[in-house]
Amino acid sequence: MPHSSTTLRLLIALSVASPAQLRADPFERCLATLRGSTMARGISSATWEHLRDVRPDSSVLAQLNAQPEFTLPVWDYLAVMADQERIDDGEKFIDQYRTVFDTVSRQYNVDAFVVAAIWGIESNFGRSTGAYPVLSSLATLSCAGRRQRYFRGELLSALRIVQSGHVRAEDFRGSWAGAFGQTQFMPGIFWGRAVDFDGDGRRDLMRNTGDALASAANYLRIAGWRTGVPWGIEVRLPDSVSAATGAGRSWRRVRHPMAVWESRGLRRADGSPLSGGARDSSQRFGLVVPAGAQGPAFLVSRNFEAVYRYNASVSYTLAVVHLADRLRGGAPFVTPWPTDDPGLSRADRRELQALLIARGHPIARIDGLLLAPTRAAVRAEQARLGQAVTGRPGQRLLAALRAP
Ligand code: CA
Repeated sequence: MPHSSTTLRLLIALSVASPAQLRADPFERCLATLRGSTMARGISSATWEHLRDVRPDSSVLAQLNAQPEFTLPVWDYLAVMADQERIDDGEKFIDQYRTVFDTVSRQYNVDAFVVAAIWGIESNFGRSTGAYPVLSSLATLSCAGRRQRYFRGELLSALRIVQSGHVRAEDFRGSWAGAFGQTQFMPGIFWGRAVDFDGDGRRDLMRNTGDALASAANYLRIAGWRTGVPWGIEVRLPDSVSAATGAGRSWRRVRHPMAVWESRGLRRADGSPLSGGARDSSQRFGLVVPAGAQGPAFLVSRNFEAVYRYNASVSYTLAVVHLADRLRGGAPFVTPWPTDDPGLSRADRRELQALLIARGHPIARIDGLLLAPTRAAVRAEQARLGQAVTGRPGQRLLAALRAP
């Protein structure tokens, strides 16, 4: 009966509102429709009370419509996501939650360092989980902009999370798109992946680190993580393969046994044969060349793919697995990125902002974020220094600003 009851509610609403009010407030009408349809799917009026005073949030819509005009090159993304600060923090947090990590990796058969790296990149180890109220954001996105049908499903899932008592409504904050908690799950993902690690009856991804880490581990397990298999290895390409990758083809999913790659002339990045060291001949590997044949190249396993399922971006996946390697004591990549102007860490970005402020640029806060005022200041300084005016700060600009 969901349709008839919704129509009835709408008719009642129409009969009491003046035509001017209706024209003025399509958002209210949309919410009334959603209220009916979610209540028909088991959401109580008490749960809907959390949306009683909600207004469309224009900042959420601005994010939805933002053009990705400032996409970071992969080396900039890694410079931030796997910087020394995050490695140091990660070692500290792994130590602090050692029992949880040990239990979770045993229980879900996943790599504790990869779970830690996801935690570090998604929320800076639980400390930056997003400031947007999840229910309001999803209500806004359900009633305006592109992808309303998708966000209506997410809103229903979010209301169910609150109604079931897993997350308190007042705690329920996240990204503009509704990803929440220490592992930044979307509400729809929550129901199939989140777990109650400490057994208190709630899957609290906001406040309970054990629940959050176990949920990320469960996600990886379902995405196909296989314990004991390396995510991949850095390789050196022969000219024949370099030429083929120059066309920008993705070979990530074209997987072969290591022996096949070896026969094509690939070697480990240090020049040694691929067959060196123990390896499982049943595993197949794809080839990832994130910045073209002149940069680092990697043979990647099913475990790289499992992390990719978490967030469908090669830069993201590489940052997670590399941070995990660094946390377990591994080294930086052997091959440098193909740039003469490497990216900035968060510490570098904060230093850059301090130097820009000292030169009189109106940047309100030293936060390491490259928001519009920082980018405008970067462009102005690049122009003054005779550098290419890109708005993208790298080591070259930082060095020039440091000079007395
Ligand atoms: Ca719990």
